[in-house]
Amino acid sequence: MGRWLITGCSTGIGREIARAALESGHSVVVTARRTETVADLADGFGDRAVAVALDVTDKDQITAAVRTADKAFGGIDVLVNNAGNGYLSAIEEGEDEAVRKLFDTNYFGVVDTIKAVLPGMRARRCGHIINISSMTGLVANPPNAYYSSTKFALEALTEALAQEVKPFGIKVTAIEPGAFRTDWAARSMWESSTPISDYDENVGARKTMIKEFANHLPGDPRKVAEAVLMVATLDEPPLRLLLGRDVLKAVREKLAAFSASIDDWEAVTKNVNFPKE
Ligand code: NAP
Repeated sequence: MGRWLITGCSTGIGREIARAALESGHSVVVTARRTETVADLADGFGDRAVAVALDVTDKDQITAAVRTADKAFGGIDVLVNNAGNGYLSAIEEGEDEAVRKLFDTNYFGVVDTIKAVLPGMRARRCGHIINISSMTGLVANPPNAYYSSTKFALEALTEALAQEVKPFGIKVTAIEPGAFRTDWAARSMWESSTPISDYDENVGARKTMIKEFANHLPGDPRKVAEAVLMVATLDEPPLRLLLGRDVLKAVREKLAAFSASIDDWEAVTKNVNFPKE
């Protein structure tokens, strides 16, 4: 059985992953900004569950959470970086403080947590880092430009990290959920408070649509948890795992258009090198 640390377990995908890992017999450091939100989950599993306060933008709390995992379980085999926020905004509407806070949580919070667990994983020459990215990490659309940018950055981090730590026996996977029914839209998705009316028909209409569909999203977060538990058992897990018909369609369409555009412009692409000497 493995030793897990999961961020953002109060609700939604993180909570379901924590529950599934505990029900499967793993030991889990169940983290949340407010530990009272995970007390009910942790209480049912005795010594295998430890609830720890963790705001991923607080480096001291990250260090303390990893230390708790070391003390309680002797290390971490699987890190799940799940905590995250969204932000609906046209780029021009973006508020500096909110955008930086978004990057602090969705990107730098992940970086800092990964840096805290890697020494232990390197020493043991094994481990699995699972980053909960998003469809928006692969395909960018308004009004998610800033949220998407944090997840695109997470994609680059994941892709390069996988190559850096493979020699140490450490695996890295990005999970790419489409639209899932969680607390996301109600609680975790912020919105620019400085809308510009020129964007109403385009970006504004998409903001309204996203909010209206929030309670009818097709994805079941328990199925994300099942997929994460399955991926964690693999000797050779995928670098990216798409979850949902929506993300499958969007990524296939993007790849086809990208590939066609590369072909269309191949002559220009090739025509920039010095002549062969
Ligand atoms: P959710 O139910 O709202 O959960 C978000 C979680 O992130 C909450 O536990 C929240 O904790 C936590 N969080 C936010 N900021 C944090 C911080 N600074 N430190 C620690 N925890 C923090 O939404 P969800 O859908 O499960 O989202 C989880 C992940 O899935 C996110 O990374 C999101 O980008 C990704 N995702 C979601 C969807 C979707 O459609 N739902 C699609 C693709 C990807 P608090 O209770 O303290 O606020």
